[in-house]
Amino acid sequence: MSAASKTIPATLIAGDGIGPEIMASVTEILDVIGAPFDWDPQRAGMDGVEHAGNPLPAETLTSIRRTGLALKGPLTTPVGGGFKSINVTLRQEFGLYANVRPTRTIVPGGRFDDIDIVLFRENLEGYYAALEHYVPADGDPQGMAISSGYTTRKECQRIVRYAFEYALKNGRKKVTLVHKANILKLLTGLFLEEGRKVAKEYEGRIEVNERIVDACAMQLVTNPWQYDVIVTTNLFGDILSDLTAGLVGGLGMAPGANIGSDAAIFEAVHGSAPDIAGQDLANPLALLLAAGMMLQHIGRQDLDTRLQAGIDKVIKTDKVRTRDLGGTVGTRELTAALKQAV
Ligand code: NAD
Repeated sequence: MSAASKTIPATLIAGDGIGPEIMASVTEILDVIGAPFDWDPQRAGMDGVEHAGNPLPAETLTSIRRTGLALKGPLTTPVGGGFKSINVTLRQEFGLYANVRPTRTIVPGGRFDDIDIVLFRENLEGYYAALEHYVPADGDPQGMAISSGYTTRKECQRIVRYAFEYALKNGRKKVTLVHKANILKLLTGLFLEEGRKVAKEYEGRIEVNERIVDACAMQLVTNPWQYDVIVTTNLFGDILSDLTAGLVGGLGMAPGANIGSDAAIFEAVHGSAPDIAGQDLANPLALLLAAGMMLQHIGRQDLDTRLQAGIDKVIKTDKVRTRDLGGTVGTRELTAALKQAV
């Protein structure tokens, strides 16, 4: 496609380990379908440490602030050195309040066919605000650990409304509010209270129900098909979204988006997989699905649909699959097949 048709500025972070290989695959496929992103390549993770002395260089943050849109490869968390988690920093810096994790069966014949669930996780509050400290107990100055979380009515409303709006726009039928208000009566009771208020605004348009998180975990394994859209607080969402990824073949198939009012960052859920980096073994699908979410985000559902159809043809029909999906092809061969199919 011509440079002139690349009209939407977007930050591109290839990342570490398998990041550059899967990012090359994804950008080639996006070029074939004519995705309008005008990429601004930036560094982060170990790549940032090696070249700019910082896992999250100022230029990278400036770029995301300018574009409001980023596709991010996996980043290796530097060990030691007192570096703060890059993902947490990005969430806070850009107020990325919604973590969106769709799960769809692409490789049939597993235990769970026809799964199609989108999970929304509150991304800024709850126990992950990490208000933790030790107090003395049993003669040990660090004999007891105390952790407190918080939720605000404003954020609870915002994440639940985001989930309902998504449901409306995407033809979804039902939203489930997942909580533990029977025990954490205030922390998650407040989420449930605000969730119910928001749900009322959608009465007659979107069905709503409620589940306690432990029951939800069990049902996701015994009968996941009853779920359509799930919205929940930070810690529960973190755990349940890995559970739903596991239903459809693991992290190699799991994309995620972190959405704020001014910026949105799209990524694969898996890490930098140093054990297979540089060996043409990495599965690029999770990052490709994340790029599909990014196309949806800019209003190009048409291109996402084309991408999904290509993926279905290659993976379901032609059964061209990487090793982690039980196949034999490498990253390059899968990429070539996807470029043909989209
Ligand atoms: P990982 O997800 O990188 O790897 C776990 C296992 O899954 C490995 O065996 C790996 O080979 C395999 N795997 C992962 N992605 C794959 C893919 N696309 N195709 C085929 N196989 C794949 O998790 P880890 O080993 O615990 O972490 C490695 C590094 O990544 C750590 O530094 C960790 O902090 C970081 N990490 C980053 C992110 C992120 O940037 N979002 C997420 C998780 C972990």
